[in-house]
Amino acid sequence: MKEDAALLPVEDARARTLALVSPLPAEWTRLEEALGRALAEDVLAQRTLPPWDNSAMDGFAVRSTEFSAPLPVRLQVKETIYAGQTPREEVHPGTCARIMTGAPLPTGADAVVMRERTRLAPDGGTVELLEAVGPGHFVRPRGEDARAGEMLLPRGTPLGIPELGLLVSQGMQTVPVPRRPRVAILSTGDELCRADAPAEGRIVDANGPVLALAVRRAGGEPSLLGIARDTLEDVFAHLSAAEGYDLVLTSAGMSVGEHDFVREALEKLGVERDFWRVAIKPGKPLAVGRKGRTLYFGLPGNPTSSLVTFELFVRPALRRMLGHSEVEPPRVGGRLAGELKKAPGLAHYVRVTATWQDGELWARPLSTQTSGVLRSAASATHLLHFPLQSSRLANGDNVELLPLSWGA
Ligand code: AMP
Ligand code: MG
Repeated sequence: MKEDAALLPVEDARARTLALVSPLPAEWTRLEEALGRALAEDVLAQRTLPPWDNSAMDGFAVRSTEFSAPLPVRLQVKETIYAGQTPREEVHPGTCARIMTGAPLPTGADAVVMRERTRLAPDGGTVELLEAVGPGHFVRPRGEDARAGEMLLPRGTPLGIPELGLLVSQGMQTVPVPRRPRVAILSTGDELCRADAPAEGRIVDANGPVLALAVRRAGGEPSLLGIARDTLEDVFAHLSAAEGYDLVLTSAGMSVGEHDFVREALEKLGVERDFWRVAIKPGKPLAVGRKGRTLYFGLPGNPTSSLVTFELFVRPALRRMLGHSEVEPPRVGGRLAGELKKAPGLAHYVRVTATWQDGELWARPLSTQTSGVLRSAASATHLLHFPLQSSRLANGDNVELLPLSWGA
């Protein structure tokens, strides 16, 4: 084993990770369960929507040819059509229909004059139109949203709320999306205990529950495998129980300490390591490997490091499993409020709170950046990317910010 393997830049490490991942097999899933996944197949429109030409305004449905006469044009009002009703009468020359938003346009009419541009006689029998409109004015044409048989959403479309709304309006109840990734999470360390079994001289395992939350938010199904003691045998035994998962996350035990057995246990299990150690802070001792169809992440033990590496590597992998083609962490531009220094050689991901001020997003580094404490992540809204070879960022510098998925 090469303990001094060169540190891999973040971008390379992510590219190598993603090369090991593909979308999971598709399943027909209820729409409300599909939010956050991407379509596994093209979806064709099953209905033409809207089903009929309808009014975009409350007003009067008219024949636009009426406006060859000078304004105001006076017409007889034949009926009132509310949304949900079917017009009873055809609109002949010299007549019109009062119409409400969403109501079907009556035969003969080809335009709508909004109510505010009209004067209705007190008895409601006639109306004066004060504005001339052309054909199609304030008419929502049949099929504007979708035409039966045409491509509605292509394969790979991320299903957000409006996309699901489109499918709901088509009367669909299920949709083909990759199944959710099953993710096993193993905490390792002699110092750890469970929150419900506190023990003298131990600290509570935070990484297990925290990673489970992050996995769930990212669309996966987490299973906690418990806590392995710092022996090769115990780590191996726990990892052996994790067969059949899509993803296995371990935390801690990844460094070169005498009690760090995770890498050795993964090797013994037959996990083919793709890389170990990334040029980042926090999160340097990250390892990624694969055995069969299972992807293994050896995450660092420090709680903030494990969350940051989750964000930079695990979430993109989960997104790919869920069918997304855009899987890189999102980025926005901002300005640094403060000053940052470091030695070149590691990319730093600085926890910041970013707020909108004078038309720009200003990123203020949290006062503690120690990765051993979760407090350095609490109240962070973004990670500020302090590039590998850079050594100083000055107040007001343009910076790249990664919005965090872990906030409330
Ligand atoms: P290690 O990578 O095993 O050297 O662990 C690095 C640091 O993270 C140590 O201070 C550990 O106590 C801490 N740590 C490891 N695992 C956990 C965990 N599951 N919850 C909270 N802290 C942890
Ligand atoms: Mg340890």
